[in-house]
Amino acid sequence: MNQPPIHVLLVEDSPGDAQLVDRYLKKAEHASFELEHVDRLSKGLGRLRKGGIDVLLLDLTLPDSKGIETFDKAFSAAPEVPIVVMTGIDDTRLALRAVRDGAQDYLVKRQVDTALLVRSIRYAIERKHAEEKFRQSEERYALAVDGANDGVWDWDLKADEIFYSHRWKSMLGYRDKDIQASPDEWFSRVHPDDVERLRKEIESHFSGRAEHLQSEFRMRLRDGTYRWMLSRGIALSDEAGEPYRIAGSLTDIHARKMTEQQLLHDAMHDALTGLPNWALFMDRLGIAIAQSKRRKEHRFAVLFLDLDRFKNVNDGLGHTVGDRLLVAISRRLRTFLRPGDTVARLGGDEFAILANPIDGLADATRIAERIHQELGRAFDLDGHEVFTSTSIGIALSFGEYDRPEDVLRDADTAMYRAKSLGKARHAIFDQEMHRRAVELLRLETDLRRGVERQEFRTHYQPIVSLMSGEIEGFEALVRWQHPERGLLLPIDFLSVAEETGLIVPIGWGVLRDACRQMAEWNRKYALTQPLAVNVNLSGRQFLQPDLIDQIQDILAAEGLEADRLRLEITEGIIMEDADSAVARLEQLRELGVQLHLDDFGTGYSSLSHLHRLPTHTIKIDRSFVSRMNASDGDTEIVATIVSLARSLGMQAAAEGLETAGQLATLRGLDCDYGQGFFFSKPVDPQAAGQLIARELRW
Ligand code: C2E
Ligand code: MG
Ligand code: MG
Repeated sequence: MNQPPIHVLLVEDSPGDAQLVDRYLKKAEHASFELEHVDRLSKGLGRLRKGGIDVLLLDLTLPDSKGIETFDKAFSAAPEVPIVVMTGIDDTRLALRAVRDGAQDYLVKRQVDTALLVRSIRYAIERKHAEEKFRQSEERYALAVDGANDGVWDWDLKADEIFYSHRWKSMLGYRDKDIQASPDEWFSRVHPDDVERLRKEIESHFSGRAEHLQSEFRMRLRDGTYRWMLSRGIALSDEAGEPYRIAGSLTDIHARKMTEQQLLHDAMHDALTGLPNWALFMDRLGIAIAQSKRRKEHRFAVLFLDLDRFKNVNDGLGHTVGDRLLVAISRRLRTFLRPGDTVARLGGDEFAILANPIDGLADATRIAERIHQELGRAFDLDGHEVFTSTSIGIALSFGEYDRPEDVLRDADTAMYRAKSLGKARHAIFDQEMHRRAVELLRLETDLRRGVERQEFRTHYQPIVSLMSGEIEGFEALVRWQHPERGLLLPIDFLSVAEETGLIVPIGWGVLRDACRQMAEWNRKYALTQPLAVNVNLSGRQFLQPDLIDQIQDILAAEGLEADRLRLEITEGIIMEDADSAVARLEQLRELGVQLHLDDFGTGYSSLSHLHRLPTHTIKIDRSFVSRMNASDGDTEIVATIVSLARSLGMQAAAEGLETAGQLATLRGLDCDYGQGFFFSKPVDPQAAGQLIARELRW
């Protein structure tokens, strides 16, 4: 027994009772006690303040204090000391009251023995100790709760009371006393649009479907504004699985939520006009498709808008004015909106309207007409009066669309149709367009395969010197040996080849063929004047950065003199970017290659540029030549072009020469070269070789 003695303070005015206690304690076997005895409360309090007392045995009826007051004074003098109250037999009510107020136990005098007294003292000390520990941890918890940035709530589900922490209340702008312990204080402040969801999320945690409660909602602050909050929580359940308590936190996530919403908005809207962008449009279109799948009679329409000649505004008046125009247009388009409709800017000068729902085609057409009207009025942009027109393609849902892309593609196809019909109008997507679109797609696939499998052939059409009447060279013309469709002409595939860029590999193939063929013929026939070959150069090819190198390489590889190659380009290619075109043409001429201006007279009038171009020959377009004998006017035009060429130091060639009469007229006009069915159609290399061998003269 080496435990330290327990210090007991006894406050008792009856010497007999005091002696009794002293005796009992001395008899105790497993513990040692040191008893101090005083007979007045005042002395007791004085002793308590000095400290070192483990337990207080207190008689409530003393000369200087009586009743519960005695206990209260002792308790507040040393709250850390456990108190066992000693009462008389008829004072048990008072004793019980003391226990309720914090006494650890009470003993009835004269009914005490050693065992009882020792046990009571022991328990009192232990219980007090446990209480103290609990109090400390409670205190720590309270401190943590109050110090945290988050609010804390603790909901007693049985009593339906919620403890809200100080912070919880202050986050909403309230003081402690403003908020009661009722759940209503919380739920009545949640935004009406969010409260249902919050309740569901709590319910789903209670039912065990969600492991935690995690819910985002807006809460109304004292000043009436709403802020986004996040509540996390976890519930405790009894053995039956019934939740009886849930506690958690409240976090202010307003700033994050705002950033999120801004980012979402930005990702879904066009920065310049503020209209929904492509992504959002497709999203809405997806919803419209779903609606039309659910209900057969639900219809919607997509109008695809493309401004005519927007590039002119941009180039002519500058991008700032161009941007202003787009903003002004979007403002006018917005006025068309009915609820459910969406106006979006898809990019560049393309807009789209989703009219949802719509009665039928007549409605869609009406909208298109209104757009023409509204956008046809002048725009006043900073003093510039700008006019614009729009081409519109309309696609109407008839229940069979599955993907937003398909609707937009059809509207786009119809828009192109509107453009090709002469702009400033609208076209409605129909099955014929669909068929053509599919065909175009197939052509593109075939064309790629054709390039891979080298299905392209080069044919040759003689070019005749009108002075001597002899063949002086050939134009190389591409043909496609299609495995199913037979030999195809450029008109069947060239535009798609241009669009897809496949014209570049195809074109280089023709150039290589032509150079090889010409070198071979010149070796074989050993003519006094070696033959030359004309090769058409597409715009895409002309823009290739390695154009000059490629041509040089091919000439060297195939062994053809540069002056035997003539490149045919059209005015359109040059007009795209006249300055850089002229520089490139100069480089080509330095190589020694001749330049021929193809289809002259059909493109933009480029007379102003013509004198700057290092062009050798002008090829007069077939349309003038073929009409020549029927109309004096056209003969006049051809005559003018020939003399224009002369005055610029160039030569003239006539395309599409089909009759002896045309040949005679052209000779009379002093035209240098002729090319056409009258001499020969374009033919394969073998037939062209025979033409040379026959040494024809016209
Ligand atoms: P183009 O360069 O103006 O070629 C002349 C076209 O007129 C050829 O059509 C030729 O067959 C046709 N033609 C010649 N004489 C007559 C005639 O007396 N009457 C009629 N009605 N037509 C005649 P083709 O071969 O169908 O070529 C069409 C166009 O395709 C060419 O016009 C040229 O712009 C382009 N093209 C042809 N081959 C190539 C090529 O290898 N590369 C590029 N980029 N374009 C090519
Ligand atoms: Mg040509
Ligand atoms: Mg031509």
